[in-house]
Amino acid sequence: MVTYYCPSCWNIVAADTEVCPACGARIQDAQKDMVEKYIAALRHPDPMTRVHAAWMLGRMCEERAVPALVQVVMERQANDPYLTSVAANSLGLIGCRDAVPCLIELLSDASASFMARAEAAKALERIGGDEAMSALAHATRGAGESRHNTARNGVHES
Ligand SMILES: [Zn+2]
Repeated sequence: MVTYYCPSCWNIVAADTEVCPACGARIQDAQKDMVEKYIAALRHPDPMTRVHAAWMLGRMCEERAVPALVQVVMERQANDPYLTSVAANSLGLIGCRDAVPCLIELLSDASASFMARAEAAKALERIGGDEAMSALAHATRGAGESRHNTARNGVHES
């Protein structure tokens, strides 16, 4: 089930709501611009709203959202690995080749969360193409090495 938000106040509303019961904004007009609202919501102060926006943009298969999602992945927003993962997943669903370089970069970032890197791998697999496939092959070959790096980092921290 899709959750719709009032674009003015972020109250949750039914899909066919005309006027937001919380703030009185006209929703029908605003929903044409839902894509832009979700793109803006990638910067919303509430972490769950950001994640929801990233998730929705993927399900809407909106190519317009690609640059904004790419930026989210590149930034690895502070302590928000879940947002990075969902943005990577959505880029895979949208399937735009423009996302390949940032997904490769995420996949090879040893400091990124395992969840985010796994989503980057899945997205690259889905998008396909030579560049994505050779990055995946490279990441698989490097799997033994990354275990070694983890052990070394552990020693470094203690
Ligand atoms: Zn409202």
